[in-house]
Amino acid sequence: MRDMDMAIKIAKQVSENGGRTFLVGGCVRDEILGKETKDIDIEVHNIEIEKLIEILNSLGEVKKIGASFGVFNLKGYDIDIAMPRKEKSSGRGHRDFEIYVDPFIGYKEAAKRRDFTMNALMKDILTGEVIDSFGGIDDLKNKTIRHVNDESFCEDPLRVFRAAQFASRFDFKIDQKTIDLSSKMDLSALAFERVFEELKKALLKSDKPSVFFESLRDMNQLSTWFKEVEDLIGVNQPKEHHPEGDVFNHTMLVLNQAAKLRKDAKDPLAFMLAAMCHDFGKAVTTKIDENGKVTSYKHELESVKITEAFLDRLNKVNLKKEVLNLVELHMRPNQMYNVAKKKSMMRLWDKCICPEDLILLARADSLGRDKIKDYDEIEKILRASLKDYKNLMKKPQVTGKDLISLGLKPGEEFSKYIQFGHKLHLSGVPKEQVLRHISADIDKKQSL
Ligand code: ATP
Ligand code: MG
Repeated sequence: MRDMDMAIKIAKQVSENGGRTFLVGGCVRDEILGKETKDIDIEVHNIEIEKLIEILNSLGEVKKIGASFGVFNLKGYDIDIAMPRKEKSSGRGHRDFEIYVDPFIGYKEAAKRRDFTMNALMKDILTGEVIDSFGGIDDLKNKTIRHVNDESFCEDPLRVFRAAQFASRFDFKIDQKTIDLSSKMDLSALAFERVFEELKKALLKSDKPSVFFESLRDMNQLSTWFKEVEDLIGVNQPKEHHPEGDVFNHTMLVLNQAAKLRKDAKDPLAFMLAAMCHDFGKAVTTKIDENGKVTSYKHELESVKITEAFLDRLNKVNLKKEVLNLVELHMRPNQMYNVAKKKSMMRLWDKCICPEDLILLARADSLGRDKIKDYDEIEKILRASLKDYKNLMKKPQVTGKDLISLGLKPGEEFSKYIQFGHKLHLSGVPKEQVLRHISADIDKKQSL
């Protein structure tokens, strides 16, 4: 509330100088929707820019984050303070805009640069009056995402992803005309960071991330940035295991199941990306034999390759290790829990970067079918097995120090013995016995 108190202070001084200060953008929308909001954006009208700077200087240390666009921050506060401006696209990229700051432009003209009617609401900080120049309140009531202005909407292609992202977060529908305009836009010049931000919001903030991809599909806009998801459309799956239809439908159901579990994930973003990418490989491995049997053997290995290329394109190197590990192993828990081979399960957990998230992914994958079955029993078995693995890891096992005391020196053979020892440990062989094995092996080699 510290930020809000500062916003009120600014508003009071602006008002004393004949101007008005509004809350704008997401925070007005979220308040009407009864949702929590993080950032406060304010727009100051009807005073000169120099006067605003003077007021801000009297209240704190001014950071000019975009002084030439009339955008400021105060040090220590999370408030974006802006003056009304007009934007006109001068190129294909997100940032290729000509910007004119004009504090006297009027409320409607200022709101015109915003993307959607629900994001174009303005609320006077001091009086509480809401200025709704484009019917945003009705659209919020009708759960509709509608662009503000026919001419300017297409100037920023990021709005295509923003529409899909908001649709998934709020479970709103996108107005048909907005869909039509969006379907004509060229998305290729967008910066990957901006696209990723929208994807991230859909994956982490939405109860139904499926709506993000389904909206892009309705706009015919999957191909530029999410070709791998588009490639899943129409890919068959065996009907007896997947009554929900093609791999695209299955992936959408898995994403929605995963969204319910992500609060429990150790790394929610990696987990959600793995849910999105886990079956990418089915697009290239799925075959139908002469009896009509559908198979996609080893698809998880192809999924790894395709996911890696996808993450490289979005420059997400830091997430790669965990996402690829989850994608590679996603089938294993559900294949192995009923075989109940303790040794294989121990080896699986050992390969896992984050076994807890793998169990959640296996759950989402299993429930992401039309034929929802109860997964709790399976999860219980998996968690018990993981607990056994963790207990096993607490028991002493052969270390480099042990090998040195047996007279070995670090090198290729040394690492082989370490791996060999670890393998025996996973099978439950006690450390002393492992050491005896190794020592006997060394003696045998020396006597040859
Ligand atoms: P979120 O809850 O995701 O932050 P938001 O609506 O606050 O939603 P921001 O990206 O923080 O989204 O932007 C703040 C406001 O700025 C928006 O509500 C919208 O009015 C305007 N805006 C942001 N990006 C664009 C854009 N690409 N085109 C037009 N208006 C935009
Ligand atoms: Mg915001």
